[in-house]
Amino acid sequence: MTRNPQEPDSRTAESASRLRYFEEHKQQITETIRQLVEVESPSDNKPAVDRLGELLAGRFEALGGHAKFHRIPDFGDHLQVDFPGKSAGKPVLLLGHLDTVYPMGTLASMPCQVSGQKLSGPGSFDMKSGIALMLHAIEALRARHGDELPRPVTVLLVSDEEVGSDSSRHITENLARKSHAVLVLEPSYGPKGAVKTARKGVGEYILKVTGKAAHSGLDFEKGESAIVELARQVIAVSKLVDLKRGITLNAGTIQGGTRSNVIPAEASAVLDVRVARMKDAAVVDRRLRSLKPFNRKCKLQITGGVNRPPMERTPKVAALFTKASEIARQLGWKLEEAAVGGGSDGNFTAGLGIPTLDGLGGVGDGAHASHECILISELPRRTALLAGLIETV
Ligand SMILES: [Zn+2]
Repeated sequence: MTRNPQEPDSRTAESASRLRYFEEHKQQITETIRQLVEVESPSDNKPAVDRLGELLAGRFEALGGHAKFHRIPDFGDHLQVDFPGKSAGKPVLLLGHLDTVYPMGTLASMPCQVSGQKLSGPGSFDMKSGIALMLHAIEALRARHGDELPRPVTVLLVSDEEVGSDSSRHITENLARKSHAVLVLEPSYGPKGAVKTARKGVGEYILKVTGKAAHSGLDFEKGESAIVELARQVIAVSKLVDLKRGITLNAGTIQGGTRSNVIPAEASAVLDVRVARMKDAAVVDRRLRSLKPFNRKCKLQITGGVNRPPMERTPKVAALFTKASEIARQLGWKLEEAAVGGGSDGNFTAGLGIPTLDGLGGVGDGAHASHECILISELPRRTALLAGLIETV
């Protein structure tokens, strides 16, 4: 390979040779993804998620890691793997999840398939390809640094991310506090594979209205319709939406009433709230909790709250992105960044003020959908970027 005379510096040559290494290993990375996709792991199936956890514990231990499980009764066990490093100092935390949204048996109708440069299958994009990148980046770094990693690395793969991370949040936060930076291997964004430097915070609320039942023909005036009250409330809370500020509110489901000839005594709605800034979460929360009934004879009850704080693009997040774009530039590619509406466990670590870069996983399409897939041709440079970040952050 001839070197570009305009870029004579040795780091660029080093990057080129690293990229070549991963190009040569593209087939192995693809095979790892296939292996992981073919072990189904729906969040609600503990034995299935545990099977994947065991398989991965073995793969990481073969690379010199020390694996331990955080045992959880209702979900799969969370897998933590610690790798010592040549240098002292805090580890880099590689964060991801074992679980997928696909029910057991999905593989029968949605098998793992390679066609051209695409690998498709349940969880291929979100986020089994991300886990494969971790394995192969660690393997390459060990090969390069004499069977050792250049610095300590901790891998955490939780089992309940797709259902809110209730049982893993404290583990993620504890490990993040002890880490130098957090690299989240969730799917990248868009066809160019942008990394995610901001994510909205996510909250869920249930608004319940209690009215008074009555026969709609005989006693219409004695009833107090919970549905009418809820309908007015849904319109009122929808006014909290402020797209410019990044505040959205969606009444995603609504239910109420018993039959057409009964004035409904009960109705409720589930509200999905997203905010770009932490202080807006508090404002929206306060507004929802202080709602008053339009019909004073109806009662309102609001439960729920903010589940994930927003991941804001703080100076620490921006600095991490700058490092990543520099590594990408040396690999001959312009890395882009994106702010997205969906949350991940990166929201928790960024919320603690730990430098966090998200969306470092595969490039693909169709997360949570029947056409979920990743681009095989993007795997070498994504793995090279991850290896570079582990070495330099
Ligand atoms: Zn995910």
